[in-house]
Amino acid sequence: MLVKGVVFYLESDLPAEAKFLFEDFRLAVNNAIRAGLQARVTSRNALNKLAYKDFRREHPRMYSQHLVSAFEVAGSVLKNHRRRIRNGKGNHVPYVRRLFMKAENQAYKLNRKSGIIDLPIRAGCHVELKLVVSQYHRKYLDDTALSLGSLTVLLDRVIVAFRKDAPMPFVPESALSLDTNERSLDGLFVEGDVAKAVKAHFPEVAIIQQLHHDRRRRLQKKKAFDRRISRKLCKREGAREHRRIDYRLHQVADSVLKFADERKSAIVLEDLRGFKSKRSKELNRRLSLRPRRKLHRIIEYKAQWKGIPVIKVDPRNSSRTCPICRRIQYSRMGAEFKCECGWHLDRHINASINLLQTAISKGMAGGLRFNPGAFQHDVMMILYEPAMAARSEPNGTSGIVGAT
Ligand SMILES: [Zn+2]
Repeated sequence: MLVKGVVFYLESDLPAEAKFLFEDFRLAVNNAIRAGLQARVTSRNALNKLAYKDFRREHPRMYSQHLVSAFEVAGSVLKNHRRRIRNGKGNHVPYVRRLFMKAENQAYKLNRKSGIIDLPIRAGCHVELKLVVSQYHRKYLDDTALSLGSLTVLLDRVIVAFRKDAPMPFVPESALSLDTNERSLDGLFVEGDVAKAVKAHFPEVAIIQQLHHDRRRRLQKKKAFDRRISRKLCKREGAREHRRIDYRLHQVADSVLKFADERKSAIVLEDLRGFKSKRSKELNRRLSLRPRRKLHRIIEYKAQWKGIPVIKVDPRNSSRTCPICRRIQYSRMGAEFKCECGWHLDRHINASINLLQTAISKGMAGGLRFNPGAFQHDVMMILYEPAMAARSEPNGTSGIVGAT
């Protein structure tokens, strides 16, 4: 089952009754967290047994379905807490501060035509939330293949989970093999006897990373006397950085998937799991793998939703192997891969040829064939470029891009 959370803003302020419900919900979550910590349990059912009766007695009017989902939220908070402790990262007692609530799909009604949510507060008291519905939202509301999952209500917006069974991936008629780099995806598109170079170029991602890194460093220096403030500001910087980068990664992924969908291509990517660069800390930060891993996650997730096959292959030696004679190059190389046998090609595109050949030799690419001789050296198809961004950011990143 695939789940996609879609954000809707509310047409008017949240009714006061709903705000009271938020406070009760938060109290129930925090009570259950405390009880769970004491009893060392994290499952929803165990928390239910522990905390239900007491809370019920104190808040006899709260809708019991909401209480159950409060225990579910508490359970996931406790699981995260347990994971953090296991990884040795902080051990303060978890506590939910934010006002919100979550309702399971039985506990609310959404009229998919009118965009009105009927949310029960307690016996005999319901509130109506009118959602702002755009064309984007219509796509989800009108798709009958999607069923409704949980509802998360925040002070100014709601998140509706839409669910569907994963569609069967199509049988590929072509392949799009991509080598993932800091500033681009480089690879080739193979259809029949023709192979062309492709590129999705996202230089801003590395620029944004650099900018926020510098800013964090400055903050740390300036607020060195107060570690708490410094940490808080850095965390905020980090969140902004991730938002700005992820926004671009989504656009890159959308372009790649649109291309693959139109040409019925299987997407071949390197498996970045367990991939660690053996560089110094300084270089590690610069070449942070996070955006690349995230890009893969986005591509894989969206491909699954659309039924586009994605093949992950072991990237070992993919950038050093000659696809013609299979010799492995151990010396350092520049932008171009050169082999004794005479083969030479852009290093990244060469790597993508090897990824595709690995996929084919392992039988992962169905009936697809590829012959490196079919590669057309003079053509480059652009899948994505920063200029293709549908809209620019309000805070003017374009200026930064232009400055470098
Ligand atoms: Zn060779």
